[in-house]
Amino acid sequence: MKSRIVYVIAAALVVTAGCSSTTSESEDSEVSPVSCISTTVIDGAVNIATTVAPITSIIANIAGGTDATINGIVPEGTNSHTFEPKPSDAATLEQADVIFINGLVLEEPTKELALANLKDGAVICELGTQILPESEYIYDFSFPLEGGKPNPHLWTNPPMAKEYAAVARDLLSAINPTNAATFAANYEAFAAKVDALDAAMATATATIPQDQRKLLTYHDAYAYFAVHYGYTVIGAIQPSSFDEPTPKEIADLITQVRESGVLAVFGSEVFPSPVLEQIGAEAGVRYIDVLRDDDLVGEPGDAEHSWLGLMRFNYVTMVEALGGDASALKTVDVSDVTKDNATYPQ
Ligand SMILES: [Zn+2]
Repeated sequence: MKSRIVYVIAAALVVTAGCSSTTSESEDSEVSPVSCISTTVIDGAVNIATTVAPITSIIANIAGGTDATINGIVPEGTNSHTFEPKPSDAATLEQADVIFINGLVLEEPTKELALANLKDGAVICELGTQILPESEYIYDFSFPLEGGKPNPHLWTNPPMAKEYAAVARDLLSAINPTNAATFAANYEAFAAKVDALDAAMATATATIPQDQRKLLTYHDAYAYFAVHYGYTVIGAIQPSSFDEPTPKEIADLITQVRESGVLAVFGSEVFPSPVLEQIGAEAGVRYIDVLRDDDLVGEPGDAEHSWLGLMRFNYVTMVEALGGDASALKTVDVSDVTKDNATYPQ
């Protein structure tokens, strides 16, 4: 009965994936390799590839304690939105039994390279695309509807990151049933930590004056987060081209910041922005340039070099800059569930 259900779902995926997938899929392939369902079973060590570091960390938490190998592709501190994989990344991708990517059109060049080099029976699982219906995609200034690329930053929102982890648990358990109990236990432990972080962020947010729960960021990475915690995104500055905004756009933003009464505007550590600095100075508000969306804190091996550590760092930064009390966040345990043995290119 169970295998019949899997078959039906897989057949449905072929129909929906058929119209968008034009890349290097062989004519006679029955199931799209872009799927979070696999019929391949591996008894030995599973080889996993991932894209951005926060996703690598989430996967490392779920697969930890098994003999799986995990290789990230996108180096930390690079622009993941425009990242082009190196030809040598093909070697990593062709060895992978499963490739976890964010999806929502974030990593198309890497996805194409993966499709062109995919091992027989391997799948590419788009975590974000898997958990979020298209009707809930957010489009905005930096990710306009006409550009065809929705805002892909689901992972900065804890409940969505937890859903990524659940998808990974289910897919890894199907591929490597020998370790299903480990994946399940890891997920339970990780989910508890995510829930604790989520609750602490809600507590900390409540200490920010209501009229200060506003975000003006350079890189537009907090759209889904803002909905979840009740912040208003009053603007994001980085245009969809990843160029600097025009003088007119800058002047409008300065007016907007003055009128909003916010205490701080937030830059990105990955995208240093003289423009945001100028907006902050001219509008008379603090400019905080340390937020990160896909560059983990510290170096691989450091205690806070993890999705949990990254999110806590960002949340503490925001809460304190907006006049709140971040002490609830500071006591949250951000250690990984198990030792993180993933490879994070730098
Ligand atoms: Zn980003």
